[in-house]
Amino acid sequence: MYYQKYNRLFLFISIMIVLFVSISLNNILASSISPNKGEYNNNMPSLCRISIITCLNNIPLIHQEHIDIKKQTDLIIEQVNSTKLKEWINTLSSFHTRHTKSDQIEDVAYWLKNELGTLCESRVFVHNFTKRDDNQTFHLKNIICTLKDSTESFQDNTTIIIGAHYDSRAENINNTDARAPGADDNASGVSAILELVRILSHVNLKLNLQFVLFSGEEQGKWGSESYVKYLNDNNRTKNIDLYINFDMIGYRPSNESDKVILEYDVGNKYLQNDNYSKTIALFIKHIASNYTNLKAQLAKLGNSDFIPFEALGYTVIGIHDGGVTENPNYHKSSDTPNTLNIKYVTSITKMTLATILELDRLSQSLKR
Ligand SMILES: [Zn+2]
Repeated sequence: MYYQKYNRLFLFISIMIVLFVSISLNNILASSISPNKGEYNNNMPSLCRISIITCLNNIPLIHQEHIDIKKQTDLIIEQVNSTKLKEWINTLSSFHTRHTKSDQIEDVAYWLKNELGTLCESRVFVHNFTKRDDNQTFHLKNIICTLKDSTESFQDNTTIIIGAHYDSRAENINNTDARAPGADDNASGVSAILELVRILSHVNLKLNLQFVLFSGEEQGKWGSESYVKYLNDNNRTKNIDLYINFDMIGYRPSNESDKVILEYDVGNKYLQNDNYSKTIALFIKHIASNYTNLKAQLAKLGNSDFIPFEALGYTVIGIHDGGVTENPNYHKSSDTPNTLNIKYVTSITKMTLATILELDRLSQSLKR
């Protein structure tokens, strides 16, 4: 528990530093290119009051470092491939249904295990679990890929988990035979996970990253609840610092702004999480405007696979396109790939990738 708190405090402080330096830099850059000298002078004293380091440091050097870091991150996020995202969404949506109680769910799980296994270089793990419901037992699978620093043990490093559910449903939650393509909900989120793994498996990271594809979300977060219990029962929760959830990240009509919702924790089970969650949300919002054309809006946490993580005390964030309030095809057979905006899925994947890379860089520089 000590380590857990320490890690979270560490991440919190790191992000506050980055937000501050970045805002300061923006101020400096904005004022230094301004022809009005008075604005430049006005900015400096307020900066010095907050952090003397910012005033003492060689500003052009910080500026150069900042540009170099952005260049490195830009190079990596440019690898996000919209064709691959589209192909994965198409394949997942082509299963007649991904209803958790359907006959097809096992095929979907094996297809995902294969796909994730290839990208994750065989470091894929299937978490089997059973669920009793309506006098029936369901044998289900969460599919997991872990990327870690090979030089250090998993237990030593801060861990970020990124998850998305792969099951779908039709209007009638009990109808296991109805067509339920679930392109936005949530083939879009699964495709982003696959693409993040494809790229990050070739990047040297200090952070441990775990990517989890959950079953049974639509039936009441069965997969995430079972997985969190598994982590807890096996003492694997010590270094978990943050859980990021994708649930519906593909619906954005092209005539609308590139709005993305960042859900942060407000008043759920552990109130002491709220500040950390909001700090991360603000950090991702800052990343969104620095690296993409997305306009991030903060909103209170809804109901998805982050809830079981929050209930154990972890900092959680949800990323989505507006979900039920915006997509008219929600939980309908009309939730098909042709209704999605792949450019938008690409931007959200890039935003999340840049977030992970910047958090990793932070953890490296501050642990030196
Ligand atoms: Zn969903």
